[in-house]
Amino acid sequence: MDISKLAASIAESPTVKLNAEAAKLRAQGEAIVHFGIGEPKNKAPMSAISSAIEKLNSGEVKYAPSDGLPSLKKAIVRYTEKNYGRTIDPANVIVSDGAKHSIFNVLYALINPGDQVIILAPYWVSYPEMVKMVNGVPVIVTPADGSFYPKLSEIEKAVTPSTRAIIINSPNNPSGAIFSDELVGEIVEFCERKNIYLLTDDIYHKLIFDGKKIAPVYNFTKKDIESTNVIVINGISKTYGMTGFRVGWVVANRKLVKVMTNIQGQITTCNSPICQVAAEAALNGDQSCVDTLRDTIEKNRDTVMRELQSIPGMKVVKPQGAFYCFPDFSAFNKDSMALADFLLKKALVVTVPGKEFGMEGHLRLSYAGAPSEVADGLARIKWALDPNAPREIQIGNRKVTRDW
Ligand code: PMP
Ligand code: GLU
Repeated sequence: MDISKLAASIAESPTVKLNAEAAKLRAQGEAIVHFGIGEPKNKAPMSAISSAIEKLNSGEVKYAPSDGLPSLKKAIVRYTEKNYGRTIDPANVIVSDGAKHSIFNVLYALINPGDQVIILAPYWVSYPEMVKMVNGVPVIVTPADGSFYPKLSEIEKAVTPSTRAIIINSPNNPSGAIFSDELVGEIVEFCERKNIYLLTDDIYHKLIFDGKKIAPVYNFTKKDIESTNVIVINGISKTYGMTGFRVGWVVANRKLVKVMTNIQGQITTCNSPICQVAAEAALNGDQSCVDTLRDTIEKNRDTVMRELQSIPGMKVVKPQGAFYCFPDFSAFNKDSMALADFLLKKALVVTVPGKEFGMEGHLRLSYAGAPSEVADGLARIKWALDPNAPREIQIGNRKVTRDW
């Protein structure tokens, strides 16, 4: 079959693929520990579920406005005021089918063929592919010091007259690192000076550990919402464990929102109103579920750190937020694809190879699951990597023997 050159150049999402593979193995009865996809395992807030049910029971499930239900947009306006200290108008908000779709819409609206978008490694797997999908060119900036923090000078060096946008994501997927306020401030100032758009992917901004506080990105611009180069992307997937509801949004100037609304009106018409009323209830409801989720994840982070640090040769940086850890496994002399495959086959643990996030030698572990599962998975990884470990262990209902 002939497909377009562009479509042929787009890679499969490794996180989504691994999730499907893990589900298949589990269905076959394998005792898989899933450190693969980034997805909190808690249930959606009851208020969200009740709202969705009520909407369904009404029988009135029709098209919504392309930019989102007015009541959800109002909830997002309030959320922005509360969490970002910015007063915005509903005309500055567009609701889409998950933050993934929101990012794509922004890129689609901004990028001309050949425009460059700077992506900071390690990065979320979908950024480069989405840039390619809109005929843009992803330009990867990797910190030369081996850390998870770029220097402004490294970003500056990558900028050309074709640079149209920079994407930042802090707390970061896959490293769990948080950029300092100083660095974010420098990037905002730089983007505004150079008239480059700054796509701020804030999907993990509520999942920050150790009581740390970060300044909202708008604090670093004196420009109003209509003239700032800062664009904020957010959603309900991670904060409320509502990944399957597929609701995300963009806060930007009215003109850009209008253009994205036109695009969305031609492609999806609108996000499902069932999901939108659920999102609205989550945003307006009791927020203690967010604290509970963050506390669980933070405890899991501590387990992951303790166990990884006890493996000789492992280099690991303590995550400050999100629910990922991105340890350096290069001491184990396997590339990250081979190592992830080894851990899956030998220890039935799903991880994601660092190569997919633009950093070889690392593996990403997503630890938003039950604490017992996280501890079990780490014990298996330790067993698989430790030459002095017992020859045989029990995993689920099978005995696994060290044969390597
Ligand atoms: N940005 C980042 C960094 C992510 O990890 C994800 C996870 N899917 C998304 C955006 C998109 O989230 P969603 O589409 O589920 O809202
Ligand atoms: N963002 C999550 C992850 O990185 C969910 C899967 C995806 O959309 O990539 O695993």
